[in-house]
Amino acid sequence: MHVPSRQASVKRYTGHPCKEGHTERYISNRGCVICAYNARKGKRNIEYTRAKEKYGVGPTSWWANKRLATAKYRAKREGVPFDLVAIDIISAAPIDGLCPVFSLPLVWCDRKNPMNAELDRTIPELGYVRGNISIISQRANSMKSNAKSPDELQLVVDWMRRGL
Ligand SMILES: [Zn+2]
Repeated sequence: MHVPSRQASVKRYTGHPCKEGHTERYISNRGCVICAYNARKGKRNIEYTRAKEKYGVGPTSWWANKRLATAKYRAKREGVPFDLVAIDIISAAPIDGLCPVFSLPLVWCDRKNPMNAELDRTIPELGYVRGNISIISQRANSMKSNAKSPDELQLVVDWMRRGL
């Protein structure tokens, strides 16, 4: 069944570019599509900057709720179990504030920082459930999640060592 794109039905070129010169407009309110997107993005960036100042000090409930929302979305997309509340995520954060892999201080609410605290599933297929989650740095998380198994990660280590 062909499902027409929602975007195609709500946007069109009116022949009148906006003051920035963009051409695509929403049919409903005639607003510029690009300008509206930029405004939303700007608002989101401001929200994150403010949150970082206010909450970026540790595993706060604001932070946990953001992780919770992402986890819920991913669980649905990947079809894995989800059964967590904010307190589970806060409890999973290391008490000393250090990444359990690198023993370096974690940062909070800073997605551009490799030490940003992320929610990790020990065994991804088991999903987001108590006992299967931990908080590790983004750097450790991406190294781990790119490997399909500990054995595969070990192959990389072996290969690196052979070159030394
Ligand atoms: Zn515009």
